[in-house]
Parts: sequence; structure tokens; C-alpha cells
Amino acid sequence: MTEVYVDLGLDAEPISEDTPTHRLIPWTLERFADQRVVMTSSFGMEGCALIDMYARVDKPLTVVYLDTMFFFPETYDLRDRMVERYPHLKFVNRGTTLTPEEQVSLYGNELWKKNPDLCCKLRKVDPMRAVMAEADVWITAIRRSQSVARAHIRVIEWDWRNHVLKLCPLANWERADVWEYIKKHNVPYNDLHEQGYPTVGCTHCTQPVPGSSPADYSRAGRWQDIEKTECGLHGGAGI
Ligand code: SF4
Repeated sequence: MTEVYVDLGLDAEPISEDTPTHRLIPWTLERFADQRVVMTSSFGMEGCALIDMYARVDKPLTVVYLDTMFFFPETYDLRDRMVERYPHLKFVNRGTTLTPEEQVSLYGNELWKKNPDLCCKLRKVDPMRAVMAEADVWITAIRRSQSVARAHIRVIEWDWRNHVLKLCPLANWERADVWEYIKKHNVPYNDLHEQGYPTVGCTHCTQPVPGSSPADYSRAGRWQDIEKTECGLHGGAGI
């Protein structure tokens, strides 16, 4: 599939779905230098790899994460290591201000069991919408092969829900490629990946997947026992 989106000019090859990632990344920061560009990350393995790729371009970039207040200790540790590793990037927490105690008082105990969609809306989707309202270009590390809901994402697409240009530079990547990149460039990653967690979300909704290794991707450990596969940040099931 070769579909031209943007022509850089007479001297440059047009950007397309097939543009190599190493070229797409500097292009992003050059082409949209006068726009409000934001990368979001939950410090998953893909996100850490993509942060490293953008960090290699000598341009400023804001990386937003949404602290749900239900992160694993290992995720906070990873966050601190990423901030230390990439001091020239701006890491900003735009997570909810609703404390777990306030959530209990408003909605009762264990909302993630009773109404996980509402819990995700309060702690992820609504905060993300506030971030998107202040952005023109959204960079995210999701991949097509991560789930059925993500199977049709494009490298570059217009996000009608958030009204931003959405860039998914790793759309064509496989998990093994990401793991190889992480190892090759000594990128920090969540220790839980070595303990059977292919993905790492909130403590209440993430379980290990027996037999998995960091090179394997699976969402089987997320929202086990309920019919939910997405938090709603990228559409699909959820909100
Ligand atoms: S992943 Fe679970 S705990 Fe986290 S916001 Fe969603 S439902 Fe709540």
C-alpha cells in the first residue's frame, strides 16, 4: 500500500504509509514544528522504544502520561528512569486529580469491577480528552497487531474524535521488533515484562500471562474475566 499524504517538496520523497520509521520520526518534528505536538505514553514497551527514537532527534518534545494513581511501583520506577535517561524531553503527568478515596466516596468500592468503562472514563479517557483539546498532532506507539481493535490504524490519520492528526509510527511493527530495538539501544523498560506481564496497566486490571516473554505481546492479562479489551483511548471497546 503506497498512499501519499504529504509532499515535503521537490527534493524529498513524499511521506506515505510505507515511509521507514527512522525517516518518519524526524519528519514529524520538522513538519509540525509550529504545531502543538504531543506524544502520549503509558510507559509500555512500545512507548519507551518510540520515546527513545524521538529523543534521538534534536528537537523539543512533550511526552504526556496519565497517572491513574493505580500504577504498579515498577511503572513509577520506570517513569523515573525515563525522565532521568531523556532530560531533554519534557515529561508531563496529565492524569486525573480524582483520588482513589474520592472515587470510592462518589462511586463506591472497586469501581473497576462494577463498571470498568466508567472507571477508565474517569481515570483515562476524560484526562486524555483534556490533553487532546490542547494538541494539534498526537504521536502514539500503538501497533496494528496488538489487537483486533487496532488492526486498521494508519501510520498517519485524522482522528475525528479528538480532531487531531494522529501519528502511529510503529503501526507496522511487531512486538519482536520492538523488543529487539529495546535491547539494541538499552532502552529502559518495565521490570514486569520479565515477570510474565506482556502489557502493564493499572494494578487492579492487569494480570501476568503464564509463559509469556518480553518478546511476546498479548492483552490476555488485561481486564481478565470481563468483556473489555480497550480502555477507550484509541476507540474500540470501552467508552
Ligand atoms: S484499567 Fe482498571 S483501574 Fe485502571 S482506569 Fe481502567 S478500569 Fe480503572
